[in-house]
Amino acid sequence: MKNILKTGIRKKLPYFSYFYHHLKYRLFFVVAFSLVVGVFDGFGLAMFLPLLETVSNEEASAENLGNLGFLIDYLESSGIGVSVITILVVMLIFFILKGIARFFETLYRVTVQQYFMQHIRYMGIDGLTSYDYTTFVTSDAGRIQNTLTGETGRVNTAFYSFAATIQSGALILIYGFFAFNANPEFTLFVGIGGGLTNVIFKVIYNRTKKLSRSYTKEANAFEGIIIQMVLFFKYLKATGQSRLYGDKLKRSVDRIKKDLIKVGFYNAILKASREPLIVTVVVIIIIVQVEYFGQEMSGIILSLLFFYRALGSLVVLQTNWNHFLETSGSLENMSDFLKGLKKNKEADGEEIFAGLEEEIEMVNLSFGYGGDPVLRDINLKIGKNKTVAFVGESGSGKTTAANLIAGLFKPTEGDVLINGKSITDYNIETYRKRIGYITQDAAIFTDTVFNNVTLWAEPNEENIGRFERAIKSASLENFINSLELKEQTEIGNNGINLSGGQKQRISIARELFKEVDILILDEATSALDSATEIEIKESIESLKGNYTIIMVAHRLSTIRTSDIVVLLDNGQIVAKGTYDELLANNSGFSKMVSLQKL
Ligand code: ADP
Repeated sequence: MKNILKTGIRKKLPYFSYFYHHLKYRLFFVVAFSLVVGVFDGFGLAMFLPLLETVSNEEASAENLGNLGFLIDYLESSGIGVSVITILVVMLIFFILKGIARFFETLYRVTVQQYFMQHIRYMGIDGLTSYDYTTFVTSDAGRIQNTLTGETGRVNTAFYSFAATIQSGALILIYGFFAFNANPEFTLFVGIGGGLTNVIFKVIYNRTKKLSRSYTKEANAFEGIIIQMVLFFKYLKATGQSRLYGDKLKRSVDRIKKDLIKVGFYNAILKASREPLIVTVVVIIIIVQVEYFGQEMSGIILSLLFFYRALGSLVVLQTNWNHFLETSGSLENMSDFLKGLKKNKEADGEEIFAGLEEEIEMVNLSFGYGGDPVLRDINLKIGKNKTVAFVGESGSGKTTAANLIAGLFKPTEGDVLINGKSITDYNIETYRKRIGYITQDAAIFTDTVFNNVTLWAEPNEENIGRFERAIKSASLENFINSLELKEQTEIGNNGINLSGGQKQRISIARELFKEVDILILDEATSALDSATEIEIKESIESLKGNYTIIMVAHRLSTIRTSDIVVLLDNGQIVAKGTYDELLANNSGFSKMVSLQKL
């Protein structure tokens, strides 16, 4: 029964259950504060009628107040008496109480809103942090970026509008309740008439919702194009294509503009037609009541006062509901996005990885990205502190093999064993903390040299010592000494003002600072000129024997001293041995070597 109710609510009130899911009891408190505001306001307003009556020297009649007559009865029976002064004082007290309630209502809403935003942002950050790499490589970068930045802002607006909607809803209920108590018949008529006008608005709401979805989709695409423009800026500039690309962006801007103008159009209709429509309904009903049913105006007047208030709340409700629908596409996008992150969370074992003691072993391992396997039947042992080099033609599977050792991908068949245990048994983060990964395009953060190497470690004595040892091993000392601010020098936009060799050495120093067991060098020197390559090669040479090194090498000169050279062809190991053994026994390898010598 409870479950049926739950599914029913989720279906009928999807947004409410979405917010309830994240906010629980807080959502009810948001409404409760508004109810309290409405109740104080209602009582305060109710005092207007007796006030008018006493001012015009009539006897204040409890009758005209309908069920609210008890307010007057109470003043009379308690001995306070009904006079202009007492009524004014009572009225004032109600409005002061309303003000106090309003303060807490507003404050609470802001608090809940910020709680919600923090909650959503944390979920996004945690989800992205533990996102599975295999899924990440096929994800839409524009969507990830836009959802975590621009769309988060829109979700904030969505919550604000939603809260304002249900708060105005609560007020309408309260005013309706007061109006009903003052004059039930009149209230029922107006209620039905008001409900009918909503049918007209519903069409507009649906259009707005559709446009909102279309906007979010376009905004995601826009962000994706921007990311690529920044990424390939140099290429686009150098080839004179940045304007062409700019035009692509502008077309996206145009589509966004079109959507938002349409939203504005519907908003304008809503804003303009709401009040005339409702007033028309009320006017018709008053005429019918007074002219045809011969009712006294004084019997309706208090209800009208409440209706006037309810109308104000209705305007706020409808405006906010439409604002909410404008951003509902963002809410759906965020909800889907967070679900996707959660679903594709990286699988994780429990065992804490304490360091490489024995060996890394690939056993009958095969792997594919979904289609045909790109690695087949790989069997390989890499002993502790040995150096192994994967060689082979481009596309033969070298990088994929290295990524499997880093646990970025899970084998489709077979296993990767670390210290004799499946890699999946380990808490993957503790394992990766012991891995250094250096690629062709070094990751350089916009920060100081020190922070780039230490990844924001505290500059205490121990860390400074480690930093110095790391830069020495990576042959960075001379470079850093040549800088004006030494290690506190800022490295500009992603290291744009560093040479390839300097970037590469900074990334090597970073891995050495981290104190790793396993170093993965994926084409680490292939983007460098020969002289720089020799320097880096020397730095790497000096690390051999102290780390377990896995090299993916394009240039064969860098792998001469490796303990094992593994030759891959089309995803399979076709030969393994030392460099000299392969040179002597494998014609394919010796051909590659002689080709490179040329
Ligand atoms: P290598 O490092 O030897 O050049 P890779 O390991 O990068 O080779 O790639 C091996 C094969 O896997 C190639 O055929 C490549 O097209 C394919 N591949 C690499 N990355 C992906 C990916 N993210 N999705 C699908 N296929 C991929």
